[in-house]
Amino acid sequence: MIVGGGPVGLYLGILLLQRGLSIAVLEQRATAPAHSKAIGIHPPALEALDRAEVARDLVAAGVKIDRGVALSNGREIARLSFDRPGMQPPFILSVPQWRTEAVLERRLRALDPGALVRGARVGRVEHRSTHAVVSADRAGSLEKFEARFVIGADGARSAVRAGLGIRAPERVHPDAYLMGDFADPGTNRTTAVLHLEAAGVVESFPLPEGMRRWVVRMPSAVIGAAPEDLSAIVHARTGISPDPRTSTMLSSFTPRTTIARNSVQGRTVLIGDAAHEVSPIGGQGMNLGWLDAAALAPLLTAASARGSAGPGAADFLRYEADRRRAALTAARRAHVNMLLGRPLPPDVVKARDALLRSLFGAPPVAAWATRRFTMQ
Ligand SMILES: Cc1cc2nc3c(=O)[nH]c(=O)nc-3n(C[C@H](O)[C@H](O)[C@H](O)COP(=O)(O)OP(=O)(O)OC[C@H]3O[C@@H](n4cnc5c(N)ncnc54)[C@H](O)[C@@H]3O)c2cc1C
Repeated sequence: MIVGGGPVGLYLGILLLQRGLSIAVLEQRATAPAHSKAIGIHPPALEALDRAEVARDLVAAGVKIDRGVALSNGREIARLSFDRPGMQPPFILSVPQWRTEAVLERRLRALDPGALVRGARVGRVEHRSTHAVVSADRAGSLEKFEARFVIGADGARSAVRAGLGIRAPERVHPDAYLMGDFADPGTNRTTAVLHLEAAGVVESFPLPEGMRRWVVRMPSAVIGAAPEDLSAIVHARTGISPDPRTSTMLSSFTPRTTIARNSVQGRTVLIGDAAHEVSPIGGQGMNLGWLDAAALAPLLTAASARGSAGPGAADFLRYEADRRRAALTAARRAHVNMLLGRPLPPDVVKARDALLRSLFGAPPVAAWATRRFTMQ
């Protein structure tokens, strides 16, 4: 039983169905979401998605970002090319999250039309000696489902995690961002651009259909902003004016890091944001969750085949330690990304730019940074 039909729960469902297991995905939302949220799919995750036979559809729906450029005051200070030896595939794919979820849902339904149960809000998971009982509210009535294993893929505010009493200390960062999708005003249709400006970073990423995602660091959390506000901030810092009339999405966020103390307990395993939420700056969260699922699927298949009493065997504990390490690495990388985007006095900006120019001018540093930015 997979609780949560977000990108990670859907992906795990596909992998388990491909392996012949009988599964259900309980999702509280009655209809599919329409928010573009996560966009970046990194090479290791695309390779994992290929195993679910969805990579081709995602590539067809997305834009291939083949390089990243850092600018300061309009001048280039660093350039990373993703099209380099050893990088497979040679790009970061950009697809709005709603579309990614639609592709995953279609594949899941093709394997088992009844696997995704929408409108089922899980409240409780009880562990018995041979199975677990999952209670869900469906249109006001309580339904109970029995399962050998329960996977909590129910996001950062995981009810499964809370029900098990698993602690997940939350760190709220002193950073705030405003982001929005607008028609792409420029010609860099395959380039991610970081404007490292004194007033704070402006990031921009290509999206499909001639759109572009803008993310700006703000001095504090933003409430009630309009597309005109984001466009004006981008213009003040970079001289570029995204057209507010073309805005299809605007939202603000203050990043958090929340890593669960443990992700395996009894017959339950937490994956994705339920196990670890990292700052969206650097675009790693969804990718990290897919890699959890890719590592977990063979363990669940083997445990199911040997009639194991539940996750708890050595292989699950190794899995837990490995994925926790991966989450901590991603959280550290996201933290450095946020530090890099904070406002700085102009003389410090000059020194930073000189340092970055000389560091990124060295091919081994550029290669290391490329691996780091692409989760390799
Ligand atoms: C602004 C922003 C930009 C981002 N950009 C990127 C990016 O570019 N790349 C990247 O890798 N990551 C990015 N992320 C992070 C990414 O969105 C998350 O890591 C990802 O959505 C986690 O997937 P998930 O399936 O674990 O959880 P979720 O997407 O949160 O899905 C959980 C699902 O569980 C359901 N659910 C919750 N509670 C229950 C319940 N009790 N019963 C039944 N169902 C329940 C929810 O309705 C939801 O559908 C970004 C995040 C934000 C906020």
